[in-house]
Amino acid sequence: MTETEYNLFEVAQRQFDHSAELLGLDQPTRELLRVPMREYHFTIPVSMDNGERKIFRGFRIQHNDARGPCKGGIRFHPLQTVDTIRALAMWMTWRAAIVDLPLGGSMGGVICDPHDLSQPEQEKLCRGWVRKISRELGPDVDVPAPDLMTGEQHMMWMLDEYEAIHNIKSPGFITGKPTGLGGSFGKKEATGYGIMITVREALKELGTKPEDTKASFQGFGNVAQNAIRLYQRMGGKVTCVSSWNQQDRTAYAYRKKEGIYLEELLPITNLFGEINRGKAEELGYEVLEGNAWLEQDVDILVPAAIENQITIENVVKIAPSVKLIAEGANGPTTPEAQTELSKRDILIIPDLLANAGGMICSYFEQVQGNMNYYWKKDEVLGKLDTQMTSAYIEVSDFAHKYNFNLRDAVYLIAIERVAKACQARGWV
Ligand code: NAD
Repeated sequence: MTETEYNLFEVAQRQFDHSAELLGLDQPTRELLRVPMREYHFTIPVSMDNGERKIFRGFRIQHNDARGPCKGGIRFHPLQTVDTIRALAMWMTWRAAIVDLPLGGSMGGVICDPHDLSQPEQEKLCRGWVRKISRELGPDVDVPAPDLMTGEQHMMWMLDEYEAIHNIKSPGFITGKPTGLGGSFGKKEATGYGIMITVREALKELGTKPEDTKASFQGFGNVAQNAIRLYQRMGGKVTCVSSWNQQDRTAYAYRKKEGIYLEELLPITNLFGEINRGKAEELGYEVLEGNAWLEQDVDILVPAAIENQITIENVVKIAPSVKLIAEGANGPTTPEAQTELSKRDILIIPDLLANAGGMICSYFEQVQGNMNYYWKKDEVLGKLDTQMTSAYIEVSDFAHKYNFNLRDAVYLIAIERVAKACQARGWV
C-alpha cells in the first residue's frame, strides 16, 4: 500500500475550518471541535510465537461526546498514524450527527500488519489493547467496533478481556459481535447496502434507473462485496473491481465487460478481500493495473478500499461517462480532486453520509442489546433504509436550497448539530 500522501487530520481540520466559517461559529466552539477531546497512546507488549517479545503501538482517540457515548472502529494497519486516527475520530462525530444518532465519535487502532501475525498473536494483541484502555471504554462511555483488518473474532476476544477485567457481562462494550452472541443481523451488509441506498436516491435525482447504469469499484472487502450485492439486485452491472495483492505488494483491477459475478469471485477472495490473481485469470477476468478501476467507461465509481485514492494526478483519467461517485472508503477523494470533479459536474456522495450504514447498524446492535430483544434481518435492513434515505434527502434538500455541494451540506448540518449540543451543555 502506498504511504498516505496527505495528512488526513489536516484535511479534516481544513474541512472543519471551512464549515465553521460558513456557519459563523464562535471561537471557543471552533477551538473545542477542531481537536479531539481526549487521546490515549500506549504500547502493547506481545510474546510472539517464536518466543520473541514485540512492542506494538496502540491508540484510542475520542473526538467529541456531546451528543452521546463515543463510537468508533479499531483498525489494524501497518501504515496507521496518530493523525489518521484523529481524523477518523472527528469524522465519526460528524457521521453520527448527520444520520442523527445519539452518539459521539472516536477511533482506535494498532500499528501492525495482521498478514504477518498468527491467530494466537492477534488474540494477544486484542487482549493487550483492551487491558491498556479498558477503564476509558464502556457502553456509556466509548464503544469500539471493527474496521480495517479487524472483524468478529477480534471483537469477541476484546469483549472477553473487558468482561474478565471488570468481572461482569457487558455485551454493550463492543459492537460487531457475531449473531447469537449479541450481534445484530444485517451488520455485514449495513455499510455496503447503505452506500447503495444513497446511490439509489441520487440516481432518482439524476433521472436515471439503476438498471441502466454500470459501476466500477476499488476494493473487494466487506463494504464493496455487499454494495455490489445490493447494486446488482437493483439491476446495475459491475464491470470492474480492484483489490490488493499481498504477494506482489500491489493492487490489480479485474474486469469483465459483460459484468463480474460475486459467486465466482467470492470463493477466490481471502478474508482480507484480496482476489487471487491467477484464479481470476483462469475464470476469464482481464487483469489490469490497480488504478484501472478509475478509468472505466461506467456511470458510477465506488472507491471502497482506502483513503486518498482519487487525486489531482489521476482525476483526469476518470471517463466522461461517470456521473456519480459514492465514497465507500473514508477520505478517498483529495480536496484538489474534489474541486476538479465539481467542475465536471460529477455528483459525489460524501463518505460521511454514504458509508454511515455501518455506524447505524452498530447503534442498532446497542439498542437491541439494551432491550435484550433482537430484530430479524429484514427489520434491521428496513430500519437502515429508512434512516439512510431520510439522511440523504435532508442533505440533498439543504444542498439544493442553499446551493452547496453534498459534502459541504453534510458538514454544515452535522457540525451545527454537534455545536448546538456543546452549547446546550454549557461547554462553550
Ligand atoms: P476490508 O479490509 O474488508 O477490504 C478492503 C479492500 O480494499 C480489500 O479488498 C483490499 O484488497 C482492498 N485494498 C486495500 N488497499 C488497496 C489498494 N491500494 N488498491 C486497491 N484495493 C485495495 O475493509 P472494508 O471493511 O471493506 O472497508 C473498506 C473501506 O471502507 C475502509 O476505508 C473503511 O475504513 C471504510 N469503512 C468501512 C466500514 C465497515 O463497516 N466495514 C464502515 C465505514 C467505512
